[in-house]
Formats: sequence, C-alpha cells, structure tokens
Amino acid sequence: MIDTHAHLTSLEDADEAVERAAEAGVTRILTVGTSVDDCRRALALAERHEGVFAILGIHPHDAGTATADDLAALRELHAHPKAVAVGETGLDWFRDYAPEDAQRRLFAAELELAAELGKPVVIHTRAADVDTLAALAEHAGTVVLHCFSAPHMLPTALERGWYVSFAGNLTYKNATDLRVAASQVPLDRLLVETDCPYLAPQPVRGKRNEPAYVVHTLAALAQATSSEEAALRPAIDRNADECFGL
Ligand SMILES: [Zn+2]
Repeated sequence: MIDTHAHLTSLEDADEAVERAAEAGVTRILTVGTSVDDCRRALALAERHEGVFAILGIHPHDAGTATADDLAALRELHAHPKAVAVGETGLDWFRDYAPEDAQRRLFAAELELAAELGKPVVIHTRAADVDTLAALAEHAGTVVLHCFSAPHMLPTALERGWYVSFAGNLTYKNATDLRVAASQVPLDRLLVETDCPYLAPQPVRGKRNEPAYVVHTLAALAQATSSEEAALRPAIDRNADECFGL
C-alpha cells in the first residue's frame, strides 16, 4: 500500500523508516519537500529508494521568506522524473508564521506552476477554508486535500472531483465528524497518509509517526466507509496511481 504524504526528511532514520514501511506492506511513499533545500533532500531519498516519490513545494509557513529565486529553483527541481506533485501549498491562518499577503502570493504562484506542469497540487489549509476555496475556484487541475480535517469543505471537494486524503487524526476518538465525512467520499477519491512525523494514529498515538503506521489509518478508513480492508487497500493504491500518475 501507499502513504501519500510523509515528511521523510524530518525523520533522522528515513532510510530505515522506508525499510520498516516495506515490511509492513507500505511499499510506496510520497515524501513532501517544504523548502528548496528540503525538496533536494526529498529527491535524494526518491533516488535511493525505488518506492519513494516526491511532492515538491514551498510550505505556506515559509511564504514570508520565499524569493523569486526559490520559485525558479522549485520549477527546475520539478524536471526530476520522481517529482510527481506540487505542494504542499495553501493558506494557514491558524499559525501566523507568514503574512497573509505573502501566503496568498505563494499559493497563487504554486497553483500556476502545477497548472503549467500539468501536475496535481497538494493542499494544506488551516483556519482558512473560505479563502482556500476561493483561490482554487479557477484551478482546473487535479487537487488533493491533504490531512483532511474540514468537513464543511467536503461538498465543494466532491463537486469538483478532488481527492480527499485522511491522516492519523481520523483514528482519534473525538473525530466522529471526520469519519462521517470519510463515509461520504466516493471510494475512487479516497487517499491515506501519515503526515509523519506528526499525527501518529491510534494505537501508536503519542509516538513519532512514520509511514509503516499508515496501516492503522487504513483500518479506520475501512471501518468508516464500511468497506473490507482487503478491498479498500488496492482501491486506494489505484487512486494514488491515477492521481499522481505513478
Ligand atoms: Zn505535510
């Protein structure tokens, strides 16, 4: 199976984590680079491991310091055959690490890059759902809502055919609203991810997260969608193939 959103470069033992994932049946991992340097590290991992691919972008938290040169470098890195998507990008009004106008400009630039390259875009949105939806209104390409946690965005997501990716928080006791949302997503639009090292799912909650643990989120997703785990697993793999052109 596949973990469609991991920050392998944030793990001090990334290569070993890739091996542990494979032992758990997680043979493919999309690792996310969040700055130009981090994107280079993500690509280096993708070069070392056949099953690792890279999502390359500049994170909204870094929007305040991102330069035109950074965007040019990002565009160049996207020529790599294992760079499969642009992101994560979006708007985050919850943490004010970067000014709003800088975040909006960077988001627009990354959406434009995704459109130009014909690659999917992976969206990070926090406490900014209305503005995120507005920015995406004209975007015609493939969209992934990563670490889905805003059920009121679901009607738009379904209407626009966006992929909805669930992370470890789906497994938490109080996340009933997320499980209800998951049950409303068509099976051909579901993805699972760890977003490691954050958000470790039950029953490893509180530990440092890593791709091997995506199996717990898949189990919760199977329960939420009343599907057999054995059937959901290949369905999600196919969704990832289609979405990211793997
Ligand atoms: Zn992330």
